[in-house]
Amino acid sequence: MSQLLSAIEKAETIAIGGHVRPDGDCVGSCMGLFGYLADHYPEKKVCVYLEEIPEAFDYLKIDEAMSEKADKYDLFIALDCGSIDRLGEAQEIFEKAVDTVCVDHHISNTNFAKENIVKANASSTCEILCELLPMDKIGTFSAIAFYTGIIHDTGVFKHSNTSKKTMETAGYLVEKGIPFGKIIDESFYMKTYRQLQIMGRCLLESIRVMDGRCIVSVVTKQMMDFYGAKSSDLDGIIDELRTTQGVEVAVLLTEKEPLEFKVSMRSNQIVDVSKIAVFFGGGGHVRAAGCTIKGSSYDVINNLTEHIEKQLNQGK
Ligand code: 5GP
Ligand code: MN
Repeated sequence: MSQLLSAIEKAETIAIGGHVRPDGDCVGSCMGLFGYLADHYPEKKVCVYLEEIPEAFDYLKIDEAMSEKADKYDLFIALDCGSIDRLGEAQEIFEKAVDTVCVDHHISNTNFAKENIVKANASSTCEILCELLPMDKIGTFSAIAFYTGIIHDTGVFKHSNTSKKTMETAGYLVEKGIPFGKIIDESFYMKTYRQLQIMGRCLLESIRVMDGRCIVSVVTKQMMDFYGAKSSDLDGIIDELRTTQGVEVAVLLTEKEPLEFKVSMRSNQIVDVSKIAVFFGGGGHVRAAGCTIKGSSYDVINNLTEHIEKQLNQGK
């Protein structure tokens, strides 16, 4: 039995939490595990702590999963979360819990739980959960949720984190009869008109530096207000930047406060963007990472490109 399952068996009250600004893997892993617990341990009291779930994942929303909150839990399971502060408001609940387990695949994970099941080679937290839970007991809802996480973190099986195991795991989930094509189209590729417009604007205003090996775009608060966009509306933009011919690193800056930017970075083959993100107090994976940096957009770009250039020169 996995450490995760033995911790679950011992607990009567369980909280599940993911990272702030939840993405497909975060929502998929939290809701998929909730579904599994509801199927097999109906006597346990389970509550999910997540920030607002983006509309693209409406099919994974279960209101009851988030409604019955307790003050203190026997067990807190942190999913897809690399550090304690990334739990957001749920950090307080985590700190009060008697037992804590973290299941994650961020190379920058700080091992903040009592039990840390961290596999940096796994494509997604959902892939790890499929290994920790008995596959034959995963129901349709959980299979849909886990499949969602895998396709989102692998960019539909094209990022370098996709392995034979990823494909096999996805294969098992597909075998359960889930509507995989619909999940991919509706949660990954479909864009609202608003998303399309802001993406167009970002691409139009992008700039290339280092002979086109690095591409940068900046989303100001004013732009977000103009389009009425939320941060989840920016999903997918960084990938369009990354797949520009000649680009090794794509950077998207989103203004959070005056002189404060959320940084998203993606690389193709050479640069370890996780290293750069960790340097600036953030984290992530070798090919996808993020952090928050204070300063003007010019300063932030200058600071980042210095690190990118250093790695590019080393990789020559
Ligand atoms: P994104 O660019 O999509 O926001 O994030 C890319 C990856 O880096 C994700 O796996 C995300 O969890 C991680 N990440 C993004 N921002 C931060 C941050 O500020 N701190 C940490 N620790 N990880 C981050
Ligand atoms: Mn993930």
